[in-house]
Amino acid sequence: MPSSETEPAKPVGRVRPAVDALPAYKPGKAAEQAEREHNISEAIKLASNENPYPPPAAVVQAVAEACRGANIYCDHRATVVREALADRLELDVEQVTVGAGSVALLYQLATAYVDPGDEVVTPWISFEAYPISVQTMGGTLVRVPLTAEHAFDLDAVAAAVTERTKLVLLATPNNPTGNAVSTAAVGRLAESIPDDVVVLVDEAYREFADPALGDPVAELLPRFDNLAVARTFSKAYGLASLRVGYVMGHTEVVSAIDKCLMPFNVNGLAQAAALAALSDEVAVEAQANIDAIRAERARVAAALAADGWDIPDAQANFVWMPLADRTDDVCIALEQRGVVVRPFSGIGIRVTIGTPAQNDRFLATLAGVAQPA
Ligand SMILES: *Cc1c(COP(=O)(O)O)cnc(C)c1O
Repeated sequence: MPSSETEPAKPVGRVRPAVDALPAYKPGKAAEQAEREHNISEAIKLASNENPYPPPAAVVQAVAEACRGANIYCDHRATVVREALADRLELDVEQVTVGAGSVALLYQLATAYVDPGDEVVTPWISFEAYPISVQTMGGTLVRVPLTAEHAFDLDAVAAAVTERTKLVLLATPNNPTGNAVSTAAVGRLAESIPDDVVVLVDEAYREFADPALGDPVAELLPRFDNLAVARTFSKAYGLASLRVGYVMGHTEVVSAIDKCLMPFNVNGLAQAAALAALSDEVAVEAQANIDAIRAERARVAAALAADGWDIPDAQANFVWMPLADRTDDVCIALEQRGVVVRPFSGIGIRVTIGTPAQNDRFLATLAGVAQPA
C-alpha cells in the first residue's frame, strides 16, 4: 500500500512483541562523535575496551593476502581456525566452534536454547548484550544482584535457577565491573546447576586476568558436559573490528550453536586473521601488548587509589568506578574535555586502559572534574 499523508501512521509490518520491546545495544561513543558534539578536537575513546595497539604485522599481512580471495565464499565452518584452536587447547575439533565475535556465538546460543518464557540467569550488572540476545528470543533474563563489593554472588545465582532456566551466563572477568571469580568457584557453582542447564563462562577478558584464577577449559570442561567457555580475539589480540570469537564445550552444545550459525558469518578476512593470530610468532607480540596493558592497569588503579577512589579489583583491560548518582555528570565532564568513557547511568563509569599517554590524560582530567565522595 502506498503511504498516505492524511491517514494516521500505521505500523509497517507486525514486528514480534519481543523485538518491539528490545533495548538497543549502545556501543561506546566514537571519539569523532564526541568531538562534534562538544566542538572539541583530539578526543580519545576509552569507552569500548578496545586494545590501544594495532594488530601484529603478521595478522595485517594475512588479512591483506586473504583480501585477494574475497570473490570466493569463505569456509562456512572456519574449519582451519577450529582445527588450530583445538590443537592449541588440546580439545577435539568437535568441541570448538568459531563465530563472528563471541557476541554472535552468544546470540546463536540463545537461539539454540531459549524459547519464549524460558529464563536465563546472570549476575547483574554485566554485559549489555546478554539481555538483548535473550529477550530477542522471548526469554527472560533473571538478573542476580552483585554483592556490595561489586562481586558475583554465586550462591544467589545457583538459587535463581529454576525448572524454567535454560542458561546461566557468567562473564569473568565481568564487564563492566572488571572483577573475576576463580575457576574453582565456577566449578562449585556448576556442581549445583542441573545437568540440563547450560552454563556459559564468558572469558572475553581472560588474557588480562591473573592466571592463578585458573583455566575453565582445562579444569572444568572435562568435569561438566553442560559447561561451555567463550573467548575472543577482539580484546587481547586487537581484532575487535574483524569479529572472531570461539566457544569450547561438549560436542552437543557446540553442534547446537553451529546449527544457528548464519551462512559464512565468520568472513574470510576474519578467519585469516584468527589463524595468523594463533601462530607462535604473533602470540609473542600479542603477549607483549597484554603485558603492557596489565602494567598500565596496575598504574592507573594505583593512581586512582592514591587519589582516594575505591575501585574494585581490575582483572580486565578497564577500571570500574562505581559513581552511582554522579555517573552521568562525571561522564559528561570528562567527555567535554575529550576523554570518552562508558557510562552506566546511575551506576558507574567504565574506563578502558589505553596507551600510557591516554591513561595519563584520563587521570589528569578526572582529577580536574571529580573528587572521591
Ligand atoms: C567485549 C566482550 C565480548 C566480546 O565481544 P566480541 O563479539 O568477541 O567482539 C564478549 N563478552 C563480553 C563480556 C565482552 O565484554
